[in-house]
Amino acid sequence: MTTADYKKEIERLKKEKNAVILGHYYQIDEIQALSDFVGDSLALAQEAQRTDASIIVFCGVHFMAETAKILNPKRKVILPDVNASCSLAESCSGADLKKFKEAHPDHIVVSYVNCSAEVKAESDLICTSGNAEKLVNALPKDQKIIFAPDKNLGGYINRQTGRNMLLWNGVCTVHDALEAENILKLKAENPDALVIAHPECNSAVLAVSDFVGSTKAMLGYIKSSEKKKFIVATESGILYEMKKNNPDKKFLTVPSGENCACTDCAYMKMNTLEKLYLCLRDERPEIILSDDIIERASKPIVKMLEMSKELGIIK
Ligand code: SF4
Repeated sequence: MTTADYKKEIERLKKEKNAVILGHYYQIDEIQALSDFVGDSLALAQEAQRTDASIIVFCGVHFMAETAKILNPKRKVILPDVNASCSLAESCSGADLKKFKEAHPDHIVVSYVNCSAEVKAESDLICTSGNAEKLVNALPKDQKIIFAPDKNLGGYINRQTGRNMLLWNGVCTVHDALEAENILKLKAENPDALVIAHPECNSAVLAVSDFVGSTKAMLGYIKSSEKKKFIVATESGILYEMKKNNPDKKFLTVPSGENCACTDCAYMKMNTLEKLYLCLRDERPEIILSDDIIERASKPIVKMLEMSKELGIIK
């Protein structure tokens, strides 16, 4: 089948099966173009919660599709490639986090949404990169906190809030691999460019950045900025949306080595048009979670959504 055939078939099957395609900003351009809704983790979680489509096709990674199932368990949730995982999700198992919690019984657990359903079930509150700082700030000042699984995001939130959260030792291998030295070199060659970075980057990269924020915050920052050139320290898929919204602006990705496309998340790029077509046609692979996990994991996610509304982060 040609690319055009896949696109036509995907559109046809989507209507026939009353399916909605939710696509993350890090998906390949063709999948973003076919998605009914494109967004970051928080926006996609909200969309998954409110949809009344019979099938949610989640074009992202496994933990995101799990979050959709947890928030809307009556829907069938499928994703094009069941092996589309995440280095952060893999760095922390529910059983290991449970042991860590038992060793620190006076701490609550705040987990970044990039974690498995089992880890969410062991957490007291979930956050995204877009709301983490405000949510942590809203917790009582003397509350001891374990932050899992991203030590870079946790370290950034510690610095922003003056907290001393205990950090799980996980990283996003895509963001953590970006080097401040390469950014400074690119900046020297492009002195008119602003450096914008995702808080999953290491602290050296964040220290040389002009703006640090979630995917959505970065998009908003670029749109409102009068600058015309940006060095983007995050996953390369976001360039599709950046270019689409700002055709007059130029975007540079951070080089990470010869012949290395390290700003591509290999997990995110596992989803292809062919796999999207096959998963819609066959309605699998499907996300199946036990009632117990859904019940326990939904509490900290719902708490996040409620607190985000109370704090005016989302509507
Ligand atoms: S970019 Fe990083 S955090 Fe996002 S899915 Fe890939 S490995 Fe996980």
